[in-house]
Amino acid sequence: MDHLKRLAAVRERLKQEEVGALLVSSPANVQYLTGFAGEGLLVVSQDTALVSTDGRYKVEATEVAPGVEAAFHEGGHLAGAYDHLVCLQLGSAAFEAETVTYAGYQTLTEKLDGMELRPVKRWVESQRLVKEAAEVAAVRTAAAKVDRALERFLARLKPGQTEREMALDLERELATEGTEPAFPIIMASGESSARPHAVAGTRRLAEGEMLKIDVGGVHEGYRSDLTRTYFVGEANAKFAEVYRLVLRAQEAALAAARPGVAAREVDSAARQVISDGGYGEAFSHGLGHGVGLEVHEGPRVSAKSEDVLAPGMIVTIEPGIYVEGWGGVRIEDLILVTEEGIEVLTQAPKARY
Ligand code: ZN
Ligand code: ZN
Repeated sequence: MDHLKRLAAVRERLKQEEVGALLVSSPANVQYLTGFAGEGLLVVSQDTALVSTDGRYKVEATEVAPGVEAAFHEGGHLAGAYDHLVCLQLGSAAFEAETVTYAGYQTLTEKLDGMELRPVKRWVESQRLVKEAAEVAAVRTAAAKVDRALERFLARLKPGQTEREMALDLERELATEGTEPAFPIIMASGESSARPHAVAGTRRLAEGEMLKIDVGGVHEGYRSDLTRTYFVGEANAKFAEVYRLVLRAQEAALAAARPGVAAREVDSAARQVISDGGYGEAFSHGLGHGVGLEVHEGPRVSAKSEDVLAPGMIVTIEPGIYVEGWGGVRIEDLILVTEEGIEVLTQAPKARY
């Protein structure tokens, strides 16, 4: 991972926007710019990059990227950051409006009296939209671990277990792969699957029901995301109809996705198929999202997205149909936008009904 290049891009932005430093408070942004994965804040100026953390992270702090220093402050991360900003004697500093709390902002304005404080949005996030080769490799590895874990989990799957038991079983398979869930595993059986983000609960899976599994892995801090929906036993006509529609919608989106295409057009390719099938209202979320250090990051793949797909972007394509009282079907894959088109990173087989 080329942290120096990433820091250089922040410094270029500081220069363009004529501001002295950026206070980075989003944990994923701190990790992206420095390799530091503990709790702390980062101050980037033209000449320095300092992570302000505390004694709990002394070991992690030795692993920061070259060109970054770490400091421990008894008064907390914020105190270390503003002390450093005071030392730098700058006229102005930008801060991440989306992650600084109101209380933090009050403290900053008090302590940095006389310094211009400028709220900014998405500076580092916009850098993270297009992945470097090493980031793609990490996501690819995370996805492959999940594919293997899921295959072993499915080979043993039997009705009668609770959702939580099944989620733990899949989590154990992830551990065998040397990874952990990128987010709490969604294991939704029967009508519970009607909720897109159902939590694995105490419901028992029965024969003749659907099972929706949404799971991701982590490798070197990078995440993956995958959803598959299955039917236990012989699929009934309604399930087969809905499943085929979701699958066709996903295929339409995968065919539409390529560099230079607006993300909202990819969303619309899937949405059109589902609307034509009579389930437009039941596709209640955007088609997909970027994945990287965070499981939900830019670009957005939705009807309102302003993003345009570019080589190096990694996004999910996950149409779904959810019917309250019946259940839900979602099929989610992770794709890399390449120079020529796309590459699907998740390889777990899809059931056919
Ligand atoms: Zn997912
Ligand atoms: Zn997702």
